[in-house]
Amino acid sequence: MCYNNSILDCLSDNLPFKVVQNLRSGEKGVSMYKTGEKPGKGRYYCTNCGQEVILDDDTDTLPPCPKCQNTTYRKG
Ligand SMILES: [Zn+2]
Repeated sequence: MCYNNSILDCLSDNLPFKVVQNLRSGEKGVSMYKTGEKPGKGRYYCTNCGQEVILDDDTDTLPPCPKCQNTTYRKG
């Protein structure tokens, strides 16, 4: 059930806290990363479905989202 205006508030019932937190930080204009970029080691989250992608090397490129094929990410 959802009586809030914000979609994020709705989703927060179903998503892990970390993902929700990341989506919220994205609302403030945090940098975005795209498939094919080499943003360096770290955890990245699909902007569409929240799928986590981990790059363990600075030379790794971001793949399309393994879940929804989205090509934009936010840093975790
Ligand atoms: Zn996705």
